[in-house]
Amino acid sequence: ETIPQMLAAAVRDHGDREALVFPEHGLRLTYAEFSDAVDRLATGLLDLGISRGDRVGIWAPNRPEWVLTQFATARIGAILVNVNPAYRVGELEYALRHVGVRCLILADSFKTSNYVNMIQHVAPELAFCAPGALMAPNLPDLRIVVRMGASRSTSGILNFADLAGTPADPARLDAITQTLKADDAINIQFTSGTTGLPKGATLSHRNIVNNGHFVTATIAFTQEDRLCVPVPLYHCFGMVMGVLGCVSKGATMVFPGEGFDPDVVLNAVADERCTGLYGVPTMFSAMLDSQNFLAHDLSSLRTGIMAGAPCPIEVMRRVIDQMHMREVTIAYGMTETSPVSFQSHTDDPLEKRVTTVGRVHPHLEVKLVDEAGHTVPVGATGELCTRGYSVMKGYWGEPAKTAEAVDADGWMHTGDLATLDAEGYCNIVGRLKDMLIRGGENIYPREIEEYLFQHPAVQLAQVFGVPDPKFGEEVCAWVVLKPGASATEDEIRDFIRTRVAHYKVPRHIRFRAELPMTVTGKAQKFLMRKAMIEELG
Ligand code: ATP
Ligand code: MG
Repeated sequence: ETIPQMLAAAVRDHGDREALVFPEHGLRLTYAEFSDAVDRLATGLLDLGISRGDRVGIWAPNRPEWVLTQFATARIGAILVNVNPAYRVGELEYALRHVGVRCLILADSFKTSNYVNMIQHVAPELAFCAPGALMAPNLPDLRIVVRMGASRSTSGILNFADLAGTPADPARLDAITQTLKADDAINIQFTSGTTGLPKGATLSHRNIVNNGHFVTATIAFTQEDRLCVPVPLYHCFGMVMGVLGCVSKGATMVFPGEGFDPDVVLNAVADERCTGLYGVPTMFSAMLDSQNFLAHDLSSLRTGIMAGAPCPIEVMRRVIDQMHMREVTIAYGMTETSPVSFQSHTDDPLEKRVTTVGRVHPHLEVKLVDEAGHTVPVGATGELCTRGYSVMKGYWGEPAKTAEAVDADGWMHTGDLATLDAEGYCNIVGRLKDMLIRGGENIYPREIEEYLFQHPAVQLAQVFGVPDPKFGEEVCAWVVLKPGASATEDEIRDFIRTRVAHYKVPRHIRFRAELPMTVTGKAQKFLMRKAMIEELG
């Protein structure tokens, strides 16, 4: 199935049901209205000369135009490029050049970034350009820039509202849509950049349509469900698990705001009577610790997904007990695998649901291997490898990097360490890159983080290794305390000492107001490590 076929099926079966709600924009569209809007925008893109296989970048936080663009590009077979909303000038220029973006659709601004200034910096000729003309010598493919939210157009930049108001030409669109193949590249998604530079994973209709379907099937979603999506659309969690997952069931998507604010999200859940909620673990912690938590009526919630990073057991328990999310599941995945490959089921035993990432998704194969590439015995730790429909086509324009990640037999080497029990439940031990070796002992930061989370004053904790002359590496922890809470380094250390072997007790503990995070809500340990190395000299 292709993405346009998926939307057509939703219109046929659920046309009058609400598809999209953006409370801040006062926007509500049924599936039929949404599909009409997609056709207008798709016709507008065709009129601009965008055709099948062209790369169309979208650089914006969660806004209605994002979802429209996602389906309008797919309708004409153009490849959507998710541009990270946190990018600055240098990263933007690199991404646009690397994948040869022909048309860039951008928001005015997000947080402290002014996107219009940044694009004018990257493409100084922009102001003098007619649409379709070369805009910058270093960006030979970039011909069109479209700005959303603007009341009037700036020179060289087209207006999204004008484009989206083009009279639709369904016959012309259908003729193109019919030629699309499920294996066509349709989306380039950048990884989060948790361990270094983001990588552009090229994904097909088959990859993401199917994964979206299986993700929401696992939480038993139907057309009656209403999902609150505070995770970025830029990332597969938002656009595949959220948007495609909902469209496959005719469910409603509710987008609470452009950036993440715990109270805005909880408000949206209550006002819109959402039945499902997605989030990375840090988002759920922030919601639970919000001063106004008890004021929100969350009784409509039933299920949801926590994913994207290790899900602390404490946080899972509180989500189930305090947020009414009795049927919440954990999912594990990565951008390169569309993304999900493991997910717990709503009817798994509670203990498994809280402590593991569940079992492998349908139609996927899995194995754990040691350094020599041999499969490890049940219960032992190895690198997680997955194979099947969900594995990406490759990293755009980087065959060597692709070959490193996906071997000749089609196995995706995830770079994550895991264990599998006899029933197939998987436990993510941590990233291969994050494991540290102190005095010859392997240490997995995740284990220590779990104990830190049990400390009543701790809101967030990250553990990583720093070089040490005596032991090779030493354990270091960065801790964010709960609002109003206090604790000393020694108190934290004593708390950990009674729970783990002495060599795992963090030697260096630092309290921070916040941690370096990706826009997808993941702590960037490589930046913490760098800062600590500088501090320790
Ligand atoms: P980069 O590859 O650029 O360093 P990234 O790996 O964080 O960034 P993503 O593709 O967004 O980019 O994230 C995938 C990774 O997130 C997985 O490889 C895994 O390490 C982690 N992850 C995802 N879900 C879970 C989970 N439920 N439990 C533990 N880790 C998870
Ligand atoms: Mg990765």
